[in-house]
Amino acid sequence: MTRLHLFDLDGTLLHGTSAPVEISRQLGLEAETVALDRAISSGRIGPPEYATQVHALWAGLTEAHVVAAFEAAPWLSRIREVWAEITRRGDYCAVVSLSPSFFVERLTSWGAHAAHGSVFPAVPFTEPVDPAGVLSAAAKVRIADRLCAEFGVTRADCVAYGDSMSDLDLFGAVPVSVAVNADRHLTGLATHAYTGRDLWEAYEQVRAA
Ligand SMILES: [Mg+2]
Repeated sequence: MTRLHLFDLDGTLLHGTSAPVEISRQLGLEAETVALDRAISSGRIGPPEYATQVHALWAGLTEAHVVAAFEAAPWLSRIREVWAEITRRGDYCAVVSLSPSFFVERLTSWGAHAAHGSVFPAVPFTEPVDPAGVLSAAAKVRIADRLCAEFGVTRADCVAYGDSMSDLDLFGAVPVSVAVNADRHLTGLATHAYTGRDLWEAYEQVRAA
């Protein structure tokens, strides 16, 4: 059986932070972005408004800032090792995140077979962000279905890794799920749970599942 492993980014592959906060840190705007992260996780704003607001904050963003944010971010250890092992077994790994596409897509260089984020214009921005391209919890499931078709598997072959309510729909759609550094609410809805900073240890729990 071929499996597809679906990884969330913010709070899952990134420990205790989000891609927008790490990008904003390069511009000295992390406090504003932490406030936006709180607003979206409490449901006070939705993903399209969040995207519009970070886009406005990032008027001075350059490709160099994005590269620096990616390199300095607190990644879990052994992400590349896990993806290499998944690939060696003939399985697939993908990242699906509500974070900006221009950051998420960098993870294909670490060995992810696919990486999807909210569609943002190219950096530096000369265009607005189109709310239609911004992802949601439900959109994660639609992308998962599309990836299943692309890789010739079904939902029954999927393993999802996530940390928050935006992973809830996906956890409900696949048979195996790993709550990574998640709050108790999500942990109760996953088949497996991991707390720590080493993705290999999370992956080992479901390697044979
Ligand atoms: Mg997350």
